[in-house]
Amino acid sequence: MSLLVVGSIALDTIETPFDHADRVAGGSAVYISASASYFTAPIKLVGVVGSDFPRAELGFLESRGIDLAGLQVIEGGKTFRWSGRYHYDLNERDTLDTQLNVFENFNPILPDSYRKSKYLILGNIDPVLQLRVIDSLEQKPALIVCDTMNFWIKGKNKELLETLKHVDALIVNDSEARLLTSEPNLVKAARKIMKLGPSIVIIKKGEHGALLFTGNMIFSAPAYPLEFIYDPTGAGDTFAGGFIGHLARTEDLSDHNLKKAVVYGSVMASFGVGKFGTEALKNLSDIDIHARYRDFVELSKFDE
Ligand code: AMP
Repeated sequence: MSLLVVGSIALDTIETPFDHADRVAGGSAVYISASASYFTAPIKLVGVVGSDFPRAELGFLESRGIDLAGLQVIEGGKTFRWSGRYHYDLNERDTLDTQLNVFENFNPILPDSYRKSKYLILGNIDPVLQLRVIDSLEQKPALIVCDTMNFWIKGKNKELLETLKHVDALIVNDSEARLLTSEPNLVKAARKIMKLGPSIVIIKKGEHGALLFTGNMIFSAPAYPLEFIYDPTGAGDTFAGGFIGHLARTEDLSDHNLKKAVVYGSVMASFGVGKFGTEALKNLSDIDIHARYRDFVELSKFDE
């Protein structure tokens, strides 16, 4: 089922305690759409890059069947840049630099072929732009998923709260949930978020898995116990891509299927962190994904 992905497209500079990479392709829209492309089609991407964004990376997205009709390429412009440094505990990272560049004046314009998309995921970008995309749709999607981060929770709080009124599912990490609600307890924080609009809340806890909240249940999914995490950048977006990709593929929004979607999100994130940038999302197979899904089932199974 048609999935519309809006988000940042970036050149990231990343330092981990083990290695570093300069200006690798990233951004929420890239990770989400690459991850979701293993589950559903067509995927329609909306974003902006400058003329410095590597052509090969756009070729990669096209090779995954992602429609780039909604991509704006600003001649002579510089792509959004983000740079971050991970601590020895890879759950902790500092943002060293954020340069909005072509994002500063970005106006997401949806081609006509995008306006009836059945599923919408609003990757982490300015909440004003997220709302503009919702408003440009011809019909209400079956599901609107939204991601955000500290940068917007602090910098555009009022605007974010407005956007959340129109969102069905919010995906945030634990520190973002606490910041958004001023509530240290994650169960209470999720309940507070539900009062802001979303009926589904997912709180990611890095290498400690993710919690899913709906009106009727709480589900706790583990993270895959990897021996080596190379680069956690984009793990949250890769998770979000697997989550919405599975829901768009199955067209089933029951609690039971939402749990499976969280596990597929965790499966994709577990692959994504194995290499720098989007490298690990380039050559996966359905067999790899299914095998890891079975591993997840085994990981949490116990007798009553
Ligand atoms: P994650 O690790 O899932 O939080 O996602 C990291 C990605 O978010 C990187 O590829 C960055 O380019 C992108 N990013 C970082 N800061 C921002 C921001 N303020 N707005 C949009 N995207 C961002």
